Amino acid sequence: MLEVPARCVIGVDLGGTKLLAGAVDPERLTVHHRARREAFGLDQTALIEAVVEAVQEASDAVGGAVDAVGFGIPCTFDRRRGIAVQAVNLPLADLPFADLMSERLGLPVEVDNDANCAVWAEARAGAARGAADVAMLTIGTGIGGGLVLGGRLYRGWVGAAAELGHMVVDMDGPPCQGNCPNWGCLEAVASGTALVREAALRVAREPDTPLGHALENGHPLTGPLVTELAFDGDPVAAESIRVIGERLGVGIANLVNIFNPEVVVIGGGVIAAGELLLEPAREAMKRRALEPARDLVRVAATMFGAESGMIGAALLAADPGAAE
Ligand SMILES: [Zn+2]
Repeated sequence: MLEVPARCVIGVDLGGTKLLAGAVDPERLTVHHRARREAFGLDQTALIEAVVEAVQEASDAVGGAVDAVGFGIPCTFDRRRGIAVQAVNLPLADLPFADLMSERLGLPVEVDNDANCAVWAEARAGAARGAADVAMLTIGTGIGGGLVLGGRLYRGWVGAAAELGHMVVDMDGPPCQGNCPNWGCLEAVASGTALVREAALRVAREPDTPLGHALENGHPLTGPLVTELAFDGDPVAAESIRVIGERLGVGIANLVNIFNPEVVVIGGGVIAAGELLLEPAREAMKRRALEPARDLVRVAATMFGAESGMIGAALLAADPGAAE
């Protein structure tokens, strides 16, 4: 049992399907309680109630000794007005989220994009610890992006920056997802959604494979299934992940050329594929990016995994000034 610290901050990662609130000791980065709630299908009012409940649960678990609450939301922001402008997968639009939550919870509240929170956690204490220039891609249903430049979180003019998943890697590529009006974004060709699409196309041509047999037996085609079978040596699953990794490497080459990061951190559900994804990504990046940046950059998997957004949100709430 971890000793409950004198003071905690609460980090909340608000995803499209579920939300995770953790009571975090900001000094030791230990998580003392995790509260989970379903978010899928909720309207705005129900979603906000679920958030308040989860924060309350985490707060009660540490005896209410909470200094602040941080939120990571997959959403674009206008920090001039403190407004969550547009979320692809959540019923939040033009909402003064920080003010609303601060009023409901009676605590100081910090709000940022979920991938901004994730890169902050990795740069401060995770896979990019000690690095001042870090880019992160979180690869799930979509692709989130975060940047730490010169030791600070890079938010852009109004807080809408680092939408790295929406860099175009194929001008005539497929339409992007959700509210994005673009074509051939990295998200459109290298996300978890793209992985499933790639595997579906390939298994249709090669049904006599472990993946083909799994589908015949009624297993739904998902990223985790493709990943599991790729590790078992299924050729279709392995090739699908290799292709996604290669495309990811094209995106990483752009990041390396533009930002010269010391570390590029890869997170999100798809990083469960580990080196099956990272190796072809590194190879493609090295073939395409310029020296010396390409030879010096480290491309690494997230250290905090599914909790990087939650922990980063807590760190931002504990010390918002450190990111600015
Ligand atoms: Zn896009």
